[in-house]
Amino acid sequence: MKKILVTGGAGFVGSHLCKNLLKEGNEVICLDNFFTGSKKNIVEIINNSFFELVRHDITQPYFAEVDEIYNLACPASPIHYQYNPIKTIKTSVMGAINVLGLSKRTNAKVLQASTSEIYGDPQQHPQKENYWGNVNPIGLRSCYDEGKRCAETLFMDYHNQNNVKIKIVRIFNTYGPNMHPNDGRVVSNFIVQALKGDNITIYGDGKQTRSFQYIDDLISGIKKTMSTNDEFIGPVNLGNPCEFTIIDLANKVLDLTGSKSKIIFSKMPDDDPKQRKPDISLANKVLNGWEPKIELDVGLLKTIEYFEKNLV
Ligand code: NAD
Ligand code: UDP
Repeated sequence: MKKILVTGGAGFVGSHLCKNLLKEGNEVICLDNFFTGSKKNIVEIINNSFFELVRHDITQPYFAEVDEIYNLACPASPIHYQYNPIKTIKTSVMGAINVLGLSKRTNAKVLQASTSEIYGDPQQHPQKENYWGNVNPIGLRSCYDEGKRCAETLFMDYHNQNNVKIKIVRIFNTYGPNMHPNDGRVVSNFIVQALKGDNITIYGDGKQTRSFQYIDDLISGIKKTMSTNDEFIGPVNLGNPCEFTIIDLANKVLDLTGSKSKIIFSKMPDDDPKQRKPDISLANKVLNGWEPKIELDVGLLKTIEYFEKNLV
């Protein structure tokens, strides 16, 4: 039995990860400040004797004896990470320093949840890990993008300078149950709008693209990355390479929900990337043939079912 720390464990991705790690017989410490996470996401495991919930802010040092750390703490949706940009960048940078310090002391292996946002508005398509990106350092998204880029730098430097055992995964748009209904990300927004009969809000002309990964595929990729040998540190892209326009997504959600909602178009947010699609050949090679298995329609149906039960 391993003792595993999951920062941001009450959030969307973190709650799925905590459940999966517990199911496999590990002891899990879930650390969260509940900015975007919720006890509701972990209610089924809260009484498990091998699960410990810690209310803590990762910008402050945290001490525990652990074997592995998954560093997920950070708001991920544009409206949440732009709410308090200084706090967002502190969470990424000071959070990274604090988990890396903890790893250095305990010799725990530590995985960083990085993001496709480090590629910015990419000029290379699809995005490979060796692409350095096209990021605006002073724009609305910079608190998140540059915070995550700096966290990657810190991970590499702690590894090179102090031999800390690290893994970096770059996560592309992921969706599924436990997303916050007001999270503002496109999949949850469209599903909630369709179920309520509200207008479906497309920003810009809707021709921008994203590649949507179902949560179960991400969890399997993250776990496989953590269990690769210590020589493999990443960064490695984890995402679904099937690319859709935002209009395609809106139409799919309307079809699958049978909703009569109307599509409306509004202003495109500043610095919104025009296209995004992961090259997953590295993940496929180093993670024993890992590739996403859940098609968009299947994943959307599962997510719609979740929101149908959880919307009041
Ligand atoms: P989320 O907002 O649902 O979860 C983030 C969790 O971190 C929440 O529980 C929140 O309360 C917690 N948190 C935020 N600031 C904190 C702090 N200072 N101290 C302690 N806890 C804090 O987002 P998510 O989608 O679950 O994302 C999890 C991680 O994966 C994030 O690091 C995010 O950047 C990364 N990621 C997610 C996606 C995606 O599509 N879901 C894509 C790329 C990267
Ligand atoms: N988007 C949209 N309507 C919404 C929410 C988002 O058209 O209600 C667009 C957004 O402008 C972006 C894409 O959908 O082009 C994905 O947005 P999201 O916030 O989910 O993620 P990110 O931009 O970080 O990939």
